[in-house]
Amino acid sequence: MDQQRKPEIFDYRSVLGDLRALSPNGVFTNIDLAGLSRWRVGGRADCVVAPRSLTEIRELMGYIHRHGIPYVVLGSSSNLMFADQGLRALGVHFGAGFADMRISGSSVWSQSGVWVPEFARRLARSGLEGGEHICGIPGTLGGLIYMNGGSQRKGIGDNIVEVTTVTPTGSLRRYDRKACDFRYRRSCFQSSPEIIVEARFEFTYTGQVGAIRRSMLEILGQRRRKFPRKLPNCGSVFVSNPAMYEDYGPPGAVIEQCGLKGLRRGGAQVSSLHANFIVNTGNATASDLLYLIEKIRTTVRHRTGYDMPSEVLYVTPEGRIVQAHEQARQMFGGSPPGDEAQPHPDPVGTGMPRLV
Ligand SMILES: Cc1cc2nc3c(=O)[nH]c(=O)nc-3n(C[C@H](O)[C@H](O)[C@H](O)COP(=O)(O)OP(=O)(O)OC[C@H]3O[C@@H](n4cnc5c(N)ncnc54)[C@H](O)[C@@H]3O)c2cc1C
Repeated sequence: MDQQRKPEIFDYRSVLGDLRALSPNGVFTNIDLAGLSRWRVGGRADCVVAPRSLTEIRELMGYIHRHGIPYVVLGSSSNLMFADQGLRALGVHFGAGFADMRISGSSVWSQSGVWVPEFARRLARSGLEGGEHICGIPGTLGGLIYMNGGSQRKGIGDNIVEVTTVTPTGSLRRYDRKACDFRYRRSCFQSSPEIIVEARFEFTYTGQVGAIRRSMLEILGQRRRKFPRKLPNCGSVFVSNPAMYEDYGPPGAVIEQCGLKGLRRGGAQVSSLHANFIVNTGNATASDLLYLIEKIRTTVRHRTGYDMPSEVLYVTPEGRIVQAHEQARQMFGGSPPGDEAQPHPDPVGTGMPRLV
């Protein structure tokens, strides 16, 4: 998960002219990361490049490599928390410009900038079954593959045949499904500095467009009922720990039963709708969110003995991507739980019988 190459601070001004030549109309400076982030937190990024073609991306990667420039790949940022201090590394944004998709029988080829709900809709329109579980996930296909994201206990990796990346030297590399090493919300790309540019998939052709659509509407309905939609959030904060699930249930239920639903720190709050979500009630900072993440983990560990890893990723100012709980532990581990955060006056479901 660590994309860091060089920890020193990068001064983008020395390469701005070259970047503009490599990606005309695709270079942006002094970007407000809170405006990009789903959580609406984060400082300013010095420089973000959004290449518009495969050739541009390959040349850009070659240039970055030759000059040892630290960079971080950004999709739609729906699984990312940006630092309050902003981003000094170069952001490489990969999105809407790479949205070609072709379907032939049950085989699908797609560039990785495709918006995931649109990808799922196109599968449904073609009578292909198997993509319903991703229809409500906001993000690019590249981010989804990187995370092996999905819902209903499925992951996009289940349908992957092959993934193509651009390597740090600008060449293309192909991974068959086995090489992608998909596991629950994990893939080999999390320990690689490569950019996912396209993928091939295999779905099941049933031709039952109506039935597939009904199943998608059912999934979207469930999500609307269960998940907070009005306040900015980053989806589920913690991934399920299988052993904890077996003994106590999923993260949301355990957090709720620990009495943490509604807990606040600054402008951040454990959602009162679903406790595995943290919402920004208006003026949250990344530091507020990280405090709550550490507080939740410490409390759950104390009550159940289990550790919950975070699904959400934190982008350090130097452009390293780490799991948010690692950053939270670094910043707040060791501070006594409870004194600075205010419990919700009426926490729901505190009577979990199996918790010690
Ligand atoms: C409201 C909400 C609900 C959500 N529900 C779900 C859910 O049900 N299931 C689920 O799995 N996720 C869910 N998510 C999380 C998120 O939507 C997915 O992880 C998503 O697929 C991330 O895509 P992205 O383009 O936003 O990636 P980003 O958040 O921008 O990036 C995530 C990681 O992927 C890397 N990355 C992105 N694009 C590429 C690329 N082309 N090549 C290489 N690396 C890349 C980034 O470097 C980063 O490390 C939810 C998020 C929100 C806000």
